[in-house]
Amino acid sequence: MVAQRIKKLNPYVPGEQPTDKEYIKLNANENPYPPHESVREAVKATLDAHPEKMGLYPDPDVGDLRQAIADMLNATGGVLANANINGETCSPDEKNKLPFTVTPDMIFCGNGSDEVLSLVFYMCFDSSIPLVMPEHSYSFYPVYCGFYGIPMNRIPLKEDWTLAYEEMTDASFSNRGCMIFPNPNAPTGLALSRAEIENMLEKSDPDRIVVVDEAYADFAEESCIPLIHKFPNKLIVVRTFSKSLSFAGMRLGYTVASPFLTDIIRTVKNSFNHFPVDFIAKTAGIASCKAAWYSAENAKKIVAERDSFIQWLKDRNWFVLDSKTNFVFAKKKGLSGKHIYEQVKKGGILIRHFNTKGIEDFVRMTIGTHEQMEALKNVLSTL
Ligand SMILES: *Cc1c(COP(=O)(O)O)cnc(C)c1O
Repeated sequence: MVAQRIKKLNPYVPGEQPTDKEYIKLNANENPYPPHESVREAVKATLDAHPEKMGLYPDPDVGDLRQAIADMLNATGGVLANANINGETCSPDEKNKLPFTVTPDMIFCGNGSDEVLSLVFYMCFDSSIPLVMPEHSYSFYPVYCGFYGIPMNRIPLKEDWTLAYEEMTDASFSNRGCMIFPNPNAPTGLALSRAEIENMLEKSDPDRIVVVDEAYADFAEESCIPLIHKFPNKLIVVRTFSKSLSFAGMRLGYTVASPFLTDIIRTVKNSFNHFPVDFIAKTAGIASCKAAWYSAENAKKIVAERDSFIQWLKDRNWFVLDSKTNFVFAKKKGLSGKHIYEQVKKGGILIRHFNTKGIEDFVRMTIGTHEQMEALKNVLSTL
């Protein structure tokens, strides 16, 4: 009845989204704070002033949204949690000052970064050369490889759970392969430094693309956007509004790359879907970039809450990785991830565990509001 290729599909399973009971949701790395009120107001005002826009195709290239994203990146350096906030404007911290100005022709926008990643996979990764990626990483990458028929070369993490970046680089060089990895990585939460990534870019195959998925970089210490001018034919940075900008329900993701590579992504998009960003997402996105100072405040709150939660867990003999994201990956001796997940769920809170070999003892817990974290600590204390 359907095409043969369907039999081979192995779809991604997102964190559960229950509809039956009110849980505290700390299982999908969503932001506990809603977008700034100016975002809601912008959407309402556009709908009221231009009801006809609902019946018209939206802007295919969203130039004003790309300009707003470029402005936000120039003002924050791509790390909201470390940006300096001056009233309603931001400036980057010393580590993240950009050596160039990001321009709109370096930005491509899509319907969430999952869609953007799908286009990038199609554009960059061949079906004849294994794609180098970490063994434990974002589980959508293997799904897309299955979808597009791209072979994988999954490199185990080091013993300390960090990316084996030297080994990944060597694998790319000797097999002439492309690379993809999140930085910070998911689900470990650990980050490579920009210097380490620069090293990978210098030593991997010179003609192959390296995709760095910065879904969580706004909660980290460094972005690798400053490397784009040095590697204009090689580096694509993928980012999302979902986590740091509280847009998981809005769907907005983007790439930052040289104008040359960005133009090719646009060609792929126009061969698939002309209009991935509807006019409401565009309007909300622009307002959200203008309120970056507010999301920076939230990112700082989340980072402070994360660091105190990590300490709390360590004080209670949990093994915790040094997260640079809005979640924590931890385990406790004698308890399986599934057991912890089930007990916490009984307490009215959803977290995530993985049935993947090697990480089955861990749970991944998203950082929520202070009150949500207090509730989580109460439940964890009973384990
Ligand atoms: C959440 C996440 C994404 C996807 O984000 P969307 O923009 O919501 O599609 C991509 N990569 C990683 C590593 C993520 O954790």
